Amino acid sequence: MAYVVGVTGGIGSGKTTVANLFAEKGIEVIDADVIARQVVEPGSEGLKAISEKFGASMLNDDGTLNRSALRGHVFSHPEDKEWLNGLLHPKIRQEMITQTAQAKSPYCLLVIPLLVENGLQSLCQRVLVVDVSEATQVTRTTQRDQVPEEQVKNILAAQATRQKRLEAADDIIFNENDSKPLSEQIETLHHQYLALAAQ
Ligand code: ATP
Repeated sequence: MAYVVGVTGGIGSGKTTVANLFAEKGIEVIDADVIARQVVEPGSEGLKAISEKFGASMLNDDGTLNRSALRGHVFSHPEDKEWLNGLLHPKIRQEMITQTAQAKSPYCLLVIPLLVENGLQSLCQRVLVVDVSEATQVTRTTQRDQVPEEQVKNILAAQATRQKRLEAADDIIFNENDSKPLSEQIETLHHQYLALAAQ
């Protein structure tokens, strides 16, 4: 069985940056956000069920999911949000299991932004949290996405607290500007994970 390291962290904490550095070492990265899109791509059971329930207004002209229409709808219809989560969460979970089981590198990373919020610890052998202060999350995300601070703060408030996430961590990468370089932190963890995976 593949040895799976779950990677999580709040918005703009540096999950993608960290995952890319592991990937440079030949470690396979499976990304929950990519899987969440795969389960509703054209031809999928997920998209078929959505268009049957809500109608063609949830589709773009090219047959892809109209994400903003769906987001807008479930925002104002909580019962439909429940239905959608009930449809998609099991599919996403199953796909995470399938893709991690197929990984060929000595261990793999499973990047799940909402790992703690959705209680997905059982999908991995180890939880790696990318940790930064909320102030750094806000600064980096507003710069990256060119969005107002308020918007980032709202997302932050809807996610698990820094404390809650750290409580779930087996390992932590500190990603402040004055932290030990990421490359060094990752080198140390890479060797730990190779050893753990070989056991
Ligand atoms: P999200 O959950 O929003 O997708 P994320 O956790 O994947 O974000 P990244 O996209 O990796 O975070 O990083 C957020 C931003 O911060 C990016 O613009 C990235 O280049 C920058 N960043 C990440 N780590 C550092 C660092 N150590 N120093 C400076 N900038 C950084």
